[in-house]
Amino acid sequence: MGKILIKDCTIVPISGPVIEEGAIAINDDRLHYVGPAGGLPAGWQADTVIEAEDMVALPGLVNSHTHAAMTLLRSYADDLPLKQWLEQKIWPREDRLEREDIYWGTKLALLEMIRSGTTTFADMYFHMDAVAGAVVEAGLRASLCQGLIGLQDTSDQRLEAGIALVKEWHGAGEGRITTMLGPHAPNTCTPGYLIRVAETAAGLGVGLHIHLAETRGEVADVKGRYGATPVVLVNKLGLLDLPVLAAHCVHLTTEEITILAEKKVGVAHCPESNLKLASGVAPVKEMLAAGVNVAIGTDGAASNNNLDMVAETRTAALLAKGITGDPTVVPAHQALVMATLNGARALGLEKEIGTLEAGKKADLILVDMRQPHLMPPNDVEAHLVYAARGSDVDTVIVNGKILMAGGEVKTLDAEEIYAQVTKRMQKG
Ligand SMILES: [Zn+2]
Repeated sequence: MGKILIKDCTIVPISGPVIEEGAIAINDDRLHYVGPAGGLPAGWQADTVIEAEDMVALPGLVNSHTHAAMTLLRSYADDLPLKQWLEQKIWPREDRLEREDIYWGTKLALLEMIRSGTTTFADMYFHMDAVAGAVVEAGLRASLCQGLIGLQDTSDQRLEAGIALVKEWHGAGEGRITTMLGPHAPNTCTPGYLIRVAETAAGLGVGLHIHLAETRGEVADVKGRYGATPVVLVNKLGLLDLPVLAAHCVHLTTEEITILAEKKVGVAHCPESNLKLASGVAPVKEMLAAGVNVAIGTDGAASNNNLDMVAETRTAALLAKGITGDPTVVPAHQALVMATLNGARALGLEKEIGTLEAGKKADLILVDMRQPHLMPPNDVEAHLVYAARGSDVDTVIVNGKILMAGGEVKTLDAEEIYAQVTKRMQKG
């Protein structure tokens, strides 16, 4: 930490117009100044100066829904229907994953995220203490929850693990870690269990992270069993009175879109996972028009198959246009808002991150624009959404600490991670 000055960069603050020839001053973990170079407070001296003449600074990307350690299952099973993919391939292999496997799989995910400009992510998995430990080491920010399946005889045990995660890890890593409870989905938890989880979350003062309305099968299943569609059901059960991060929200009625807006639910739109598993296409245009907070997530690397939020943001923008036949839907600036501020809001962190403004936490990335596919510099926001790649990210700063500079990650050993994940998946 200390004082960092980023000089001569173009700034995409998200909270306002693009600033040319800007400067960013960081004091320990917070942004001290963001604006034109000439406005830098007189006499302010940096310990570290980053010359960023060909760089664009923007808030770190927020991956609002993933299962980080599923990097282990990247390209392990593909091109199958969701039910067969899960029941015959993914779940049996996940059952054999041990705590140390989760730790190394998460580290691989964190390396990939830093390299492609993600500074914050929301994660749902198991052995979450191993995930939390890896996050503290790597320096990212994360909202973590234990996935809770409420149909099995392990459901009590899982809830206990979820509670322990909240009690032991909320606020860890200089406040970089926050927690939620993670009821998996309305068709993998009974209504009684969902109510119990919600009451527990309220008692702990945390929100919920849940999969909602991902597939037609889930909607039919929930409707058949409980006589209501997924969003209506969880609203009736009282879940939406808490802060809720809902992944997918692909198959929604007009009534459900209204509920999501009124209850201020954060929706984690995961376009590539939904496309790959042929789950459908979320009604992003309709949700945005109704005032729903739509963020972007990659979902796990087994159904994507990467954690590149730059690519995901591009897919979100293109898909919304293609499916509606309307090229004005999700313009570049809005896509960037979804990938940053809306993600921060969905995680309950909008007061601290999501925009570049003095006083907020110093979570930002620098993208190297001196590349053939990012020239000439006509429109920087359009470049970031329609032409950039995750690998164009040069520098990553989280909580005022430089995690990557010149494309080199400082907090993780890539070769050690590659060796560990290769060994762990070879043992079968
Ligand atoms: Zn998921």
